[in-house]
Amino acid sequence: MALIVAKFGGTSVASPERIQNVAKRLIAMKNEGNDVVAVVSAMGKTTDELVGLANALNEHPSPREMDMLLSTGEQVSMSLLAMAINARGYRAASFTGWQAGIVTDSTFSSAKIQEVTAERIKAKLADGAIVVVAGFQGLTEDGEITTLGRGGSDTTAVALAWGIDADVCEIYSDVDGVYTADPRVVPRARKLDVISYDDMLELSSAGSGVLQSRAVELARKFGVVIHSRSAFSDAPGTLVKEIDMFMEQAVVTGVAHDTSEIKFTIRDADDVPGVAAQVFSALASGSVNVDMIIQNVGENSHTDISFTCPKGSKEEAEAIVKRIMPRIGGRDYVIDENIAKVSLVGTGMKSSPGIAAKAFSVLAENKVNILMISTSPIRLSIVVEGSQCQVAARCLHEAFGLDSESVFEETALSPEEIAAKMQKGR
Ligand code: ASP
Ligand code: MG
Repeated sequence: MALIVAKFGGTSVASPERIQNVAKRLIAMKNEGNDVVAVVSAMGKTTDELVGLANALNEHPSPREMDMLLSTGEQVSMSLLAMAINARGYRAASFTGWQAGIVTDSTFSSAKIQEVTAERIKAKLADGAIVVVAGFQGLTEDGEITTLGRGGSDTTAVALAWGIDADVCEIYSDVDGVYTADPRVVPRARKLDVISYDDMLELSSAGSGVLQSRAVELARKFGVVIHSRSAFSDAPGTLVKEIDMFMEQAVVTGVAHDTSEIKFTIRDADDVPGVAAQVFSALASGSVNVDMIIQNVGENSHTDISFTCPKGSKEEAEAIVKRIMPRIGGRDYVIDENIAKVSLVGTGMKSSPGIAAKAFSVLAENKVNILMISTSPIRLSIVVEGSQCQVAARCLHEAFGLDSESVFEETALSPEEIAAKMQKGR
């Protein structure tokens, strides 16, 4: 018997049928003798639709009203799920974020959780009910409704798991765990049984989108064990937890890729103190999230500076670069929109020399041209031309011993098709 927090994403509650499936699953957990708290996202693409509605009426809606609006999505799914559980003869109670005791700061649209006082949840559990909590939302001390940022239900789930001291925080989605690479790009990717918080965080920030990074950070901070698994099958997924430092670990845990960034190069900027400071302070104050930076060795008192940032920040970044060009003496700038970042991630890299050398040799053998390089103690990222993303990811995956014997073939299946396959198999 365990205390389980189980989070279901938008896809898993997208229709009445799917909500039924979630209800069945929760009831099965309950019947096995567990105490169960479900956290749900809004149905399907509801949040996007609500954003669309808001923008149809106001291009710049006030953050407070936006959170009032977006928080309704999760309230629909939480109450429907509780009703579905009731209809099967089991007790259930749904709670909004504030009823669940989730207190946040007052940063609308990306509020941070400050406290979880889950008294009402505990009381309902003691009563024998299955508790359902609306993800993604909380309440400030002044009684304002806030949301936690897109994908924030994962964060709700982890915070609640910590707040009620759950044994595990299960995060159900349409993928069945964390893979050594995205199977759509690297068909020989393998599902990992377990991964450390550090590796998971590096993989997420390097572009692997299974779990929200903030949720993983929170889980690491409080030692909450996450189980990332499929909402459409009973197969165990991937555990995200602290890994014993004495445990034998693979040097490289996974290969991530990210095609969501673009590269700016400022040519022939003055090679004097303060130039980089000016460029990156201006970008920071324009809220452009800069990822990689390269500055070349100066020549004739001039130097090139390159950086990458999200595609979505292109206009903002370009306006800023244009504006400061005269101040830093830059000759011109170029934007490369067709790039991909491929990263090798692994805590084991810390104690293994020669990873970079091996990676670069493999890339050279496969005729992949490297445009930029950046490293952390447990990550090696390279930027390549967009068209070389797959080759780069595949050859690195193979070279570092991550390839599985079998080729992933379910990538073309929709969640419905996977569910249908599962039913047949039973
Ligand atoms: N419904 C919110 C979103 O779509 C929160 C979540 O799904 O976790 O971003
Ligand atoms: Mg979502």
